Amino acid sequence: MTNAKVRVELTQNPKEKVPEDKLGFGTVFTDHLFLMDWDEENGWHDARVVPYNALQLDPSCGALHYGQAIFEGLKAYNNGGKVYLFRPQKNFERLNNSADRVCLPKLDEEFALEALKEFVTVDRSWVPTTPGTSLYLRPLMFNSEASLGVHPAKKVTYLVMASPSGAYFTGGLQPMRLYVEDEYVRAAVGGIGFAKTAGNYAASLKGQLKAQEFGCQQCLWLDAKEHRYVEEGGAMNVFFKINGEFYTPALTGSILPGVTRDSMLQLLRDRGEKVHEARLDVNELFKQAQNGELEEMFCTGTAAVVTPVGTLVRQNHETGQLEEVSINGGETGEYTRSLYEELTNLQLGKGEDKHGWLVEVCDAE
Ligand SMILES: *Cc1c(COP(=O)(O)O)cnc(C)c1O
Repeated sequence: MTNAKVRVELTQNPKEKVPEDKLGFGTVFTDHLFLMDWDEENGWHDARVVPYNALQLDPSCGALHYGQAIFEGLKAYNNGGKVYLFRPQKNFERLNNSADRVCLPKLDEEFALEALKEFVTVDRSWVPTTPGTSLYLRPLMFNSEASLGVHPAKKVTYLVMASPSGAYFTGGLQPMRLYVEDEYVRAAVGGIGFAKTAGNYAASLKGQLKAQEFGCQQCLWLDAKEHRYVEEGGAMNVFFKINGEFYTPALTGSILPGVTRDSMLQLLRDRGEKVHEARLDVNELFKQAQNGELEEMFCTGTAAVVTPVGTLVRQNHETGQLEEVSINGGETGEYTRSLYEELTNLQLGKGEDKHGWLVEVCDAE
């Protein structure tokens, strides 16, 4: 079980586990943490699994001042007998693309995956078993060099934390209301939108708050230049079923290339559906929602898998009035539901894994 390159130091004080029906998202952490350091002289070194603890950081470190921090999000699933990861290679590929954009060092993707498996194996008793639950894994890389100088990091920390998370939907799929944000933008072409960076989230919070004030769960983000073309729904990718065909915004550079987005495109193509990666004008979408051509809409991401969208809300800036349109009568579409089921079944090892997306980690406890 022990990989020679990863030192394992087990905790002497295992934590008490939170009952699975009380799990939320991102507040409970397992007994251990994976850590690895990088510096110019030694490259990546000292890969280790250690008891979960607080970090010691120099107050001048670049991650805190200049946002040089990138992360990933993926899940480990317990299907009763085995623990699986879903397409983890895609996450490490994306982490390296993010690293490149903010001048952090790349990881050896194969080693990063082996180390992740080792870490999950150590904490395997934390992978919950109730349907809809999972062990959320959060790889994080940041500039930990003690320096206020603005330059690529000379000292970097990579870590992975694990958090058992509860079922996202407890009472079945619930359609969201999305507020069309035409003032703030999340990311601009040429910036860091395609990278999974901490800074993108800082940029999104104000819009998120505004959406909530208007009675919506998330924003529908538009492009930074014309404030007209759809980019993402909250921190999720977005799909539309229009006149029987499927559309998602093309990856222009300001959109995060979701693993779930990629999986969804493949599942749709496997079903023989027509799929388009395109530029989608929000004004057109409002019209198509009004005349019923926009049949279904949903968002995709690791956390919520597939989330239906039932209502789009926007503000008329001349009158200040809110205008809203419903999609599929504000209800979860049948097609959306079937995609949610297909993907969640696959992740639990219940469907045929035609594309080899599941990576076995270890036997479940
Ligand atoms: C992580 C993320 C997504 C979803 O990506 P998945 O790989 O499907 O989880 C979408 N948008 C943003 C901004 C994200 O950070």
